[in-house]
Amino acid sequence: MPQAVHSDCDPVTYATRQPAPIVHVQGSHYQMGCQVGEHRRAVIHASLATYRGLFKSEAARLHIHSWKEAILHARKYLPFAEESVPQYVEELRGIADGAGLDFNDLLVLNCMEALTEDALHRGCTSLAAAPELTADGSLLVGHNEDWLPEDFESVYLIHAQPDDEPAFLAITYGGLLPNIGFNQYGIAQCCDSVYPNDVRVGVPRIFVSRAVLATTTLAGALQAALHHRRAAGYNHLIAHASGELYNLEASARDFELIYGLDGLVAHTNHYLSRRMRAIERDGDALLASRVRYNRTLRLLHGQRGRISRASIQTLLSDHVNFPESICNHVSIDDYPLDRQQTIAALVMDLTNFTMDVAWGTPCCSEFHTYRLDAPRLSLGERLAGSG
Ligand SMILES: [Zn+2]
Repeated sequence: MPQAVHSDCDPVTYATRQPAPIVHVQGSHYQMGCQVGEHRRAVIHASLATYRGLFKSEAARLHIHSWKEAILHARKYLPFAEESVPQYVEELRGIADGAGLDFNDLLVLNCMEALTEDALHRGCTSLAAAPELTADGSLLVGHNEDWLPEDFESVYLIHAQPDDEPAFLAITYGGLLPNIGFNQYGIAQCCDSVYPNDVRVGVPRIFVSRAVLATTTLAGALQAALHHRRAAGYNHLIAHASGELYNLEASARDFELIYGLDGLVAHTNHYLSRRMRAIERDGDALLASRVRYNRTLRLLHGQRGRISRASIQTLLSDHVNFPESICNHVSIDDYPLDRQQTIAALVMDLTNFTMDVAWGTPCCSEFHTYRLDAPRLSLGERLAGSG
């Protein structure tokens, strides 16, 4: 079990200078899931206990009155995932079997955003800089993952070599399928919660975004994120090693593509495009998200030509508008369900295939570097691979 420590700079926020654990998996999707489940058994059990407790204490607010009822709701989404992305359902079955848990319990965790109607507000800040704007010509992507402090302990990296899909390096936590990372085709994804008013029963967001990590082209990545039966949507910040950058703002039934023409993109938790703002729920309430977005973009523009892994690490530690800053800290006055903090910060380098990860709020943790150990594929190899 990793050692959770309250940070020195803020006694209610979790951070540690230790490296986050990494799990190496390979084989079929079910086999990879089993390997994750066995390795992460203790923290997945702990994470599940946390959510069972939250459902009990917040039943009135969530309109779900028992764990059994949560499972019944989650099962409605399962046929859509089984029809569209059966390999990731198998991956989840593997995690459950490896951890010695009921599959239905993990299904609830992976449908959490839909079941709680986004009562669990997730923060998150994402950004990317094209090679022409970075100090050493590498394509850099940054992300702060803001979530319930209770899941801090369950953060880990996954280094995966699936039998039938590209190798990838990603970060995730608890019993969730991974969706934030990059693959050997030089495609990276970060996900930011957004709040559309057209959600429906369909393929859960986590399954949809998991599929993006398996894509080999930019259009393929966008297509995967826009699965026609998706239940809702994230903002998917999708970057390619070539320097192509997109924010794909999705809802269940609509989307807008924002192209990074000037070599910089950022996103937080409100829709940027006029088209998507029209279907945003409580958009007026997302003011801290707007502050984080503006601050991120301004800091990036101020470093044009000098952007580096170190400068993005510093940006991700920024405290303007504390505690709802880019480096997000717990507000002790919030109800348990509303508490959030940055549980992991990461900088991906798509040119050199590295990921720097800080475990907890990056202001008082330490970045450690991980590498995707897989050959980068040339255009010729990609064409040969696709037949
Ligand atoms: Zn901080």
